[in-house]
Amino acid sequence: MALTTTDFALSLLDDVLGARDPEEVSREQDARRLVSLGFLAPENGQTIQTRGCSKCGATMYRTVETDSSGNPTGSAMFICSSCGNMEA
Ligand SMILES: [Zn+2]
Repeated sequence: MALTTTDFALSLLDDVLGARDPEEVSREQDARRLVSLGFLAPENGQTIQTRGCSKCGATMYRTVETDSSGNPTGSAMFICSSCGNMEA
C-alpha cells in the first residue's frame, strides 16, 4: 500500500500529537500563548477551560475557580478570543 504525501504528513502529526484531537491541541496552544502574553493569568486555585465559539468557530476561554483538590467551585463566562462573544 502506498501512502500519499498527505497521509504521511498526517501520520507524522499523529506521532507528534499522540493522535489527539487537533482542534483540542490547537486550543491548548492558543491558551498557553495567551498565558505567556499575560492575557490570561492562571493562579493557584484557578484553571482555564476552552471551547469553540458558536458564532465564529474560534477559541473561547474562561477561568474556573478550584478548591485545594482542583475541583471546580465556580466559573466565569466563556469569552471568544476572536469576536468577543460571551456565553455561559
Ligand atoms: Zn467568536
